[in-house]
Amino acid sequence: MLELKNITKEYRTGDQVVQALKGINLKFRSNEFVSILGQSGSGKTTLLNIIGGLDRYTEGDLLINDRSTKEYKDRDWDTYRNHSVGFIFQSYNLIPHQSVLSNVELALTLSGVSKDERRERAREVLEKVGLKDHVTKRPSQLSGGQMQRVAIARALINDPEILLADEPTGALDSETSLQIMALLQEIAADRLVIMVTHNPQLAEDYSTRIIKVLDGEIISDSNPASEIEIRDSKILKNDKTFMSFFTALSLSFNNLLTKKGRTLLTAFAGSIGIIGIALIMSLSNGVQNYIARIEEDTLSSYPLTIEESTLDMGMIIGALMGVNTEELEEVEEGEVAATPIMTDVLATLASRKDSNNLTAFKEFLEEDAAVQENINAIQYSYNIPINIFNENGVDGVVQVNPSNVMNAIGMGQAMDAQTSNPLQSAMGGGGMMGASGVDSWKELLNNQELLESQYDTVSGRWPESFNEVILIVDENNRVSDYMLYSLGLLSQE
Ligand code: ADP
Ligand code: MG
Repeated sequence: MLELKNITKEYRTGDQVVQALKGINLKFRSNEFVSILGQSGSGKTTLLNIIGGLDRYTEGDLLINDRSTKEYKDRDWDTYRNHSVGFIFQSYNLIPHQSVLSNVELALTLSGVSKDERRERAREVLEKVGLKDHVTKRPSQLSGGQMQRVAIARALINDPEILLADEPTGALDSETSLQIMALLQEIAADRLVIMVTHNPQLAEDYSTRIIKVLDGEIISDSNPASEIEIRDSKILKNDKTFMSFFTALSLSFNNLLTKKGRTLLTAFAGSIGIIGIALIMSLSNGVQNYIARIEEDTLSSYPLTIEESTLDMGMIIGALMGVNTEELEEVEEGEVAATPIMTDVLATLASRKDSNNLTAFKEFLEEDAAVQENINAIQYSYNIPINIFNENGVDGVVQVNPSNVMNAIGMGQAMDAQTSNPLQSAMGGGGMMGASGVDSWKELLNNQELLESQYDTVSGRWPESFNEVILIVDENNRVSDYMLYSLGLLSQE
């Protein structure tokens, strides 16, 4: 059912090339307990990740049910990982603040299985691994062996045909290791288990086949599978696709780590991805309140903002970072050529700037019933700063808005330059990072309920009139010293 044909894997870091696998040929039966033995650095993890579809081979082919994976699309890999493979790692990879039950259930969350059935199945596998009495505990309340059992239960909940374990007993004492091995042996009774270990005794005692690797090559195989045995192997199931949370997570981390150069954009996209996954998870958990709260929390710190003129920031960042030098003409030997970064940015600015008719838009916001129903609050801001002075400052009368702290420390010019530079004004009056970014004053939202859901009153009361102010502190009752300087409560001298 699984066949590796001359698989190689190269890792490139800088100008160094590491040949992690140097032509691996292997066939697996649908039902055996394989141990992969070898020294650290010999390529075991790489091999396991390639078998599980977590990593891609450089050359060769991996056949799944006689089908080459050379033409596999992301979707095919997702299906394979989610329905056919379960993973166990040395470090368990459990979510610390979730109960044992939730940790196991989570692996089914994106699968469209109903909540009740998820619970039921999670309880079943937890019972199978001997954790029936611990389902409500947190991982931190468990021993290492018990945590690994949770991880095994999580890997088993999709009933995969293949279980991959990377040094599952690496962090356990010898007696607990034996128990985990016994459990894996039991699991291997009706599926393929491939385990990486550097403990030859465990491999000898529990597995049905031992493959030894050294420097990316197989040096021995105690029980190679014959053609006929492979023919008779059962077919992997291949239904709908969905990506397991853990796979998605580990993949996006892998991508973040391996795709150099585009780090900023990828990190950004990655964080959106994680919020997205969190939302989907809570959606299928049926915790609608949770979503509402996340949205409120997120939107009150990152509200939807509409400005007088807009720019596609993605395009600008793209133009700044991604000048595609491959598309440019090659520079002749002995010559020097220019890379058109400014040209690209300015061209993008010119073609991607749009103006909004805010008068009409304000009318629309205020009159449209659907808008009114779906918003929490609207806030208007104008290009006129409110001038505020504190006459009781430690240095006498202090201008507290617009703040002059930056001037006092000699950075005023940098700020001025920023607000008056053409890029900035093209973005609509310096809304991005201009002077407003360093001011401590904010107009309160006009939704008292939303405000009260997000803040506790530490002292005093909510404002009742236009000329009252409140001081917002963080969850530890702290404010930044910058705030104290700009309010004139600490001497700028
Ligand atoms: P093992 O699991 O047997 O200890 P690995 O498969 O982790 O070995 O690593 C095999 C070789 O590949 C090692 O030389 C290791 O340094 C290298 N390697 C593994 N992963 C990466 C990576 N992401 N980037 C660069 N080199 C890697
Ligand atoms: Mg390893």
